[in-house]
Amino acid sequence: MSKKVRVRFAPSPTGPLHIGGVRTALFNYLFAKKHGGDFVLRIEDTDQNRYVEGAEDYIVESLNWCGISFDEGPNKNEKFGPYRQSERKDLYKQYADELIASGNAYYAFDTAEQLDAERKGHEEKGKTFIYNWHNRERGRLVNSLVLTEAETKAKIEAGEDFVIRFKSPQDETLHLTDIIRGNMKIDTNVLDDKVLFKSDGMPTYHLANIVDDHLMEITHVIRGEEWLPSLALHQLLYNAFGWEAPEFAHLPLILKPTGKGKLSKRDGDKMGFPVFPLEYTAPDGTVSRGYKEDGYFPEAVVNFLAFLGWNPGTEQEIFSLEQLVADFDLARVNKAGARFDPDKTKWFNHHYMQQQLDLDLAEQFKAIRPELSNIDVNYIALVVGLIKERATFVNDFWDLSHFFFTAPTAYDEKASKKALKEGTADVMTKVIELVNTTDDFTVENLQTNIKGWITDNEIGFGKVMMPLRLALVGALQGPDVFDIMYMIGKTETVSRIEALIKQV
Ligand code: GLU
Repeated sequence: MSKKVRVRFAPSPTGPLHIGGVRTALFNYLFAKKHGGDFVLRIEDTDQNRYVEGAEDYIVESLNWCGISFDEGPNKNEKFGPYRQSERKDLYKQYADELIASGNAYYAFDTAEQLDAERKGHEEKGKTFIYNWHNRERGRLVNSLVLTEAETKAKIEAGEDFVIRFKSPQDETLHLTDIIRGNMKIDTNVLDDKVLFKSDGMPTYHLANIVDDHLMEITHVIRGEEWLPSLALHQLLYNAFGWEAPEFAHLPLILKPTGKGKLSKRDGDKMGFPVFPLEYTAPDGTVSRGYKEDGYFPEAVVNFLAFLGWNPGTEQEIFSLEQLVADFDLARVNKAGARFDPDKTKWFNHHYMQQQLDLDLAEQFKAIRPELSNIDVNYIALVVGLIKERATFVNDFWDLSHFFFTAPTAYDEKASKKALKEGTADVMTKVIELVNTTDDFTVENLQTNIKGWITDNEIGFGKVMMPLRLALVGALQGPDVFDIMYMIGKTETVSRIEALIKQV
C-alpha cells in the first residue's frame, strides 16, 4: 500500500448507534491503526427528515466508551473538514452539475404523484417500476433527456421542483471488487437511475458519500453488507468523475442468536440483551438498555464485536484492543453472516472482570450499593477478591457477598431442612467455644481447630459445616466458610451462630 491508509465511519444521525454500527467503526479503526493510517468520523446528515437530535453525541460517546478514538471528525483535527455533511452542503451542487455537463446525469421533473402513479400501474401488472434506460427517454417521464435545453432551463427558472438523476449506462457489464467478497459482475441494465441531488439544495447519500470519500482521500471503504447493492452505482460515479475509487470491504450481517435473519432491537428485548452500546432515551421517552448500563466492560464489548465476522485463525479468543490492532486482517473477515451470541458476550465480561483490580471493582460495587457507603473500600476489595470468580457483572456482587456486610435476616427454607438436625444446637455451641478459643484469628487456625475437632470426634463434616454455613450466610452458598469467619471477625461469627442456635 503506497498511499497513506485513510478510512471513515460515516453514520447517519437517525437514532442510537446499533451494535452493528459499532462493529463497523471498530473494524475501520483496527484497519487504520494496523496500517498506520487515519480513522475519520463523518456525520452523514443530509436527510433532514430522519435527523434525530442528540444522535451525533450518542455516536461520539459510544465510540469514546469503547476506546475507538477517531483521528479526525467534528470538532477534532478538522483538516479535511467540516465533517458534518450538512455543513458541506454548498459543495455538492458543482459535482452534480459536472455530471450533467459530462452527460452522466440529467434533470428530472416528475412529480411524486406521477411517479406514484407509474409505480401503481406497474404493480397492477405485476411489475416493478424502475426509472432507467428502458423508460427514461420514452416521453412519459419528464426529464432533460426528452426536453429541449431551453425547456429544461425554463422549468428550472420557473422554480419547478427537480431532481438530478444518475444516467446509468445501458448494456454494460460492470466489474466490481470487494476485499471480502472477491470479484462480482453486474449488468448495468438492472440498475435504476438513482437521485443524486434534490432541488432543496441537498445531495442524496450517494452523491455526498462519493464526493466526500474522494475529497477526504479515503482509501478503503469498510461498511456493512446492506450497502453492497449501492456499490455498482458508487463505482459508476467514480468512473463518471474520472476519480480513482477506494477499495471496498462489505462486512457480513450480524444475525439473530438463532442464526436466522438480521439481529434487531426486538431480539434483544425478547431475549434480554442490549443491542445498543449505551442506554438511549428516544425523543418519545422510550428507553433502550445499553451494554454500559447493563454492567459490561468496554473491553468485553470490543472483544466480542471483533469476533462478529472476524477470527484470528487460531484458538485465541481474548484480545485487547492493541492485540486486535496487531492481528486484524480484512482477509480474515467472513462473508457469511455472523451469529450473535449473548452468552459469549457474558463469557467475555466474566473474563475481563477477573482482570480488573479488586480495588477498582470495589469502588464500582460501592457506587451502586447504598449499604456499602460507610464500609472501608479495602475491606470491600477483599470481599470482591473472594467472590468475583463467580460473578459476570458488578451487579452480581451483592447477591454473592451480602453476608460479608450484614447478618442473615432469614434462613433459606430448603437449606434449613438439609442442615438443621437433632444435635445441631450442641454442635454449634461447641463451635462457638472453638471460635472463642482461637486467639490468633486466622483462616488457618480456624480451619485447624474446627476441622481437627471434627476428625478427632468423628462427627461428619456435613453435620458441622452445613449449619455453620447456614448461620453465617443464611443459605448453603458462598465462598469458603473459614474465609467468611475470618472476614467478618470473631464477635460477628459468634453472634451469627448464637442466632442460629436460638432458631433451632
Ligand atoms: N451514512 C451511511 C450509513 O448510515 C454510510 C454508509 C457508508 O459507509 O457508505 O451507514
